[in-house]
Amino acid sequence: MPSRRFADGEMVMGRWPGSVLYYEVQVTSYDDVSHLYTVKYKDGTELALKESDIRSQSSFKHRKSQSSSSSPSRRSTSRSRSRSPGRPAKGRRRSSSQSREHKDDKKKTVQETSLALQVLKPSENNTRRYNGEPDSTEKNDTSCIILEQKLKPDLEIERVLEQYSLRPRKEEKKKEEIYSEKKIFETIKTIEKASSKTKELEFGGRIGTFTLIFFLPATVFYLLLMCKQDDPSLMNFPPPLPALESLWEARVFGVFLLWFFLQALFYLLPIGKVVEGLPLSNGRKLQYRINGFYAFILTAAAIGILLYFQFELRYLYDHFMQFAVSAAVFSMGLSIYLYIRSLKAPEEELAPGGNSGYFVYDFFTGHELNPRIGSFDLKYFCELRPGLIGWVVINLAMLLAEMKIQNQSVPSLAMILVNSFQLLYVVDALWNEEAILTTMDITHDGFGFMLAFGDLVWVPFVYSLQAFYLVGHPTAISWPVAAAITILNCIGYYIFRSANSQKNNFRRNPADPELAYLKFIPTATGKGLLVTGWWGFVRHPNYLGDIIMALAWSLPCGFNHILPYFYVIYFICLLVHREARDEHLCKQKYGLAWERYCQRVPYRIFPYIY
Ligand code: NDP
Repeated sequence: MPSRRFADGEMVMGRWPGSVLYYEVQVTSYDDVSHLYTVKYKDGTELALKESDIRSQSSFKHRKSQSSSSSPSRRSTSRSRSRSPGRPAKGRRRSSSQSREHKDDKKKTVQETSLALQVLKPSENNTRRYNGEPDSTEKNDTSCIILEQKLKPDLEIERVLEQYSLRPRKEEKKKEEIYSEKKIFETIKTIEKASSKTKELEFGGRIGTFTLIFFLPATVFYLLLMCKQDDPSLMNFPPPLPALESLWEARVFGVFLLWFFLQALFYLLPIGKVVEGLPLSNGRKLQYRINGFYAFILTAAAIGILLYFQFELRYLYDHFMQFAVSAAVFSMGLSIYLYIRSLKAPEEELAPGGNSGYFVYDFFTGHELNPRIGSFDLKYFCELRPGLIGWVVINLAMLLAEMKIQNQSVPSLAMILVNSFQLLYVVDALWNEEAILTTMDITHDGFGFMLAFGDLVWVPFVYSLQAFYLVGHPTAISWPVAAAITILNCIGYYIFRSANSQKNNFRRNPADPELAYLKFIPTATGKGLLVTGWWGFVRHPNYLGDIIMALAWSLPCGFNHILPYFYVIYFICLLVHREARDEHLCKQKYGLAWERYCQRVPYRIFPYIY
């Protein structure tokens, strides 16, 4: 017995999630494990559908001619073509030999098409006008809203109706229809992201990722080496390489391991609330303990005790390169372990972006989405603990080293600014730890070399470059300049924090009365896209805030060298690339609704520039 009914490449009719509408779609793949088809709509949206939500085109041709003479369904299907996420069935001549199944389909579909008319009618002369115009057009975007309502609780449906001034003529009847469809929609919602093979490779594919595995450690090595030079001009010839044996010291590696496992111990402490992450492709939600801020407090206490007992934190500065090498070796070992264990992970637990079947690519991007040892979530732990908290400890070590080396009784103003700004950033991330659960790193990217190296090496050793630079290159700044830089950092922080909180709160509880002032475009997946507030200003306001802060962190280092500006330059590149990745994913997830959002909010990160 064949396990699948439709072949790759076949044009079929796919039900749009939550609706009674069928659109012409192309089958792109089939997953033997979940028995789901990945189909592509004409607007580029890709979804995974059950076989029961797919019909052959011939069954639609059949129906169409049946209803062509007098039924309103004909009008509805042809009108909806221009506005729908994909295209509805085109009327074609009925085939003479239809199967029994097709006859059954026929009955159902005549009902469905007339329902489609009811559903779509209110929007048909509105959606075409929806082209980024302000509120008045948004309010009438009923077709999307009706799809959206199917998975929202009553309260939210009411809110959407109110917010968009929707008063459908047969409101009660429609509600009944909506609720009767709810069950179907929920089923589809949980399966639509079922994992399948990664087809579109990022980061330059196999060659790109292979190169990055060497290029990233080499960059860290180069930056740290340059920063130690008296004249760290990038125009200079690179300094001679240090002897290989000077890069490794077992004791340093031991201290690194101690640090890592101390943080793991703090992570395991049963303090702090436990929250659920976003639903996975199989509908399951993982639990996460939120105790990063407590871990930070405990770490601060531990460092305080060390300082009290005259421990020289400068040891970190003196062995900085060796620590970086230890962290790099550890992250490579961790990545190998992660890849090996991912080979045994069930298909549904693999990362949507790291399941290409190519070893190098999956090793780099991360094969398994949420690798866990029992309840210990390795990715979640590494994202915010050893590297991020380590970064502020390194900064503190640099501050103490500067005082010692420059014979100062107090740290320089520049060093204080860099330390304070970055401390604020880290404390903020830990205080708002829950927000990380909705980020791309947690929901989309697997845990492989990219994140392991990024979290454990790149963040602590590259992000602390300004403080490292200031130890050997003292920079005097005046109080007014310091005040101006502080204001810049505060502006960046305000944008970054309020944008992230706005989206995070909206994602967690769209019906929150405190967010009732925000408008959003509903999407067929059940999630809305904010079009007012920060997310109506630019498409990634949080990136804008982050970049402004990055600039404020570099400015205290003056303008003698470009090296301390490496962070802001790299960060702009990172976020521009990340933004493009995110847009691509959102386009796949939300299709037409995302295009509408882009029309409504034309700038990506920098208003009127980009
Ligand atoms: P974002 O927090 O920017 O989230 C992007 C997601 O938000 C999209 O995939 C989409 O997901 C959702 N979304 C997009 N537009 C809207 C909208 N209009 N309304 C509602 N939801 C929307 O992702 P990141 O993980 O990239 O960034 C998180 C934070 O981390 C940022 O502040 C960033 O600056 C920072 N960051 C810092 C780094 C560092 O090294 N310091 C590195 C990377 C990021 P969905 O619809 O599925 O919810």
